[in-house]
Amino acid sequence: MTDELSIIQQHIRDCRRCQQAGYPVQGPPIFSGTAASRLMVVGQAPGIVEVSKTHRPFSGSAGARLFRWLAQAGWEEQEFRRRFYMTSITRCFPGPNPSGRGDRVPTRKEQQLCNEWLEAELALVDPEVVIPVGSLAARRFFGKGYRLVDLVGQRFRLHGRIFVALPHPSGASGWLQQEENRRLIRKAIAILAQLREELRL
Ligand code: SF4
Repeated sequence: MTDELSIIQQHIRDCRRCQQAGYPVQGPPIFSGTAASRLMVVGQAPGIVEVSKTHRPFSGSAGARLFRWLAQAGWEEQEFRRRFYMTSITRCFPGPNPSGRGDRVPTRKEQQLCNEWLEAELALVDPEVVIPVGSLAARRFFGKGYRLVDLVGQRFRLHGRIFVALPHPSGASGWLQQEENRRLIRKAIAILAQLREELRL
């Protein structure tokens, strides 16, 4: 399995499908992790910091907030990065949002172009636990009729895996501003802490 994953990861690194289709994305494609990972985080798309400086997922300001949540569940950042898989719905930086708030949301076509890589990562890593981060990732697994408020703060079993959704940790997200939503995040963190103990993650 490890060799198959390595081959897929090289294909992902070489991928330029969105540029070839005319989308204004900026690589390199960002993801990290090995076939031994028992948990997978699936975000929306990397930001400018990830593609231009760090080349690792969730290493900008939104990532810092995500790792604060994960630390509250008991995982130290470096250990989490070493042990678990981190990827996203699309793996290249989509560019800024024309509204000036945050990054552009990848189009449905871009999501489709990148989906083969997510399918392959899920099949080859076969994680027990998946954390979709943000509504785009949540809808990828639960269906487009679901909203974050229907999902965050609960654990679900889908296709043999446990899912615990989190909101997008970007400071541009209005979702985080409401106290009721922050209460759901605290519930989600408590569920992750419980899973960490229960599954010895
Ligand atoms: S976002 Fe995905 S499909 Fe598009 S170029 Fe990057 S790796 Fe390829």
